[in-house]
Amino acid sequence: VLSCVDVRKTFGANVVLDGLSLDVGEHEVVVLIGASGSGKSTLLRCVNLLEDIDDGAIRLDDEHITDPRVNPDKIRQKIGIVFQSFNLFPHMSVLDNITLAPVRVHGLSRRDAADKARELLARVGLADRAGEYPDRLSGGQQQRVAIVRALVNAPRLLLLDEVTSALDPELVGEVLSMVRDLKNDGMTMVIATHEMGFARQVADRVCFLHQGRVLESGPPAQVLGAPTEERTRQFVRRII
Ligand code: ATP
Ligand code: MG
Repeated sequence: VLSCVDVRKTFGANVVLDGLSLDVGEHEVVVLIGASGSGKSTLLRCVNLLEDIDDGAIRLDDEHITDPRVNPDKIRQKIGIVFQSFNLFPHMSVLDNITLAPVRVHGLSRRDAADKARELLARVGLADRAGEYPDRLSGGQQQRVAIVRALVNAPRLLLLDEVTSALDPELVGEVLSMVRDLKNDGMTMVIATHEMGFARQVADRVCFLHQGRVLESGPPAQVLGAPTEERTRQFVRRII
């Protein structure tokens, strides 16, 4: 589904991604781990074309999406992204938050967008909240709405960046369980997280980012349980 080849991204003199390569297969869930500043968020932002890369290429299916001629809106329709802060518009209802982009940017009819949104909300137990404003929902509910918003275009790929970090501990579970359900539905995902428990539960593959590259990659039991690289070992020891 996704293929990143020799991706380089710098901010001034700061080389954040230094020839990073990563392939993600259909239905695969890849979890990115690594120290703060190792480039996890930057990689997700590059994949969603929120940042331009300096070198290398990113492909989605057979399309070279980092080609400058590509229309980023078209690509973002196929790649959902959710951030740590839910970024819901406070002055809009849940339903309007979800249907805004599909209607305005992607040309879906209001009716179709609303039908799809209600169907997805129902699936995560939030059907009765469609008319509510975000500040009337718990953090966990808001984050689930943000994930629904990312799903409403039926994306090929879903990117999740620390989606549980801003939540009170008792609300983390409901978001994790939604991510698990998505995995069971076959959604292809790339997830950045500091929660190793989460990584263990949902990852098909864990990738450890270090110095702008994937230093080690494999099943969670291997990378988290018996890492081969010294750097990974140090990181895992510190965080678990
Ligand atoms: P965390 O675990 O804290 O979320 P991360 O792995 O997601 O960290 P990034 O947010 O991708 O790391 O940041 C990687 C590096 O890129 C950091 O050194 C950061 O300061 C730098 N960086 C990120 N975005 C920008 C930007 N817009 N301008 C300048 N530097 C940036
Ligand atoms: Mg980050």
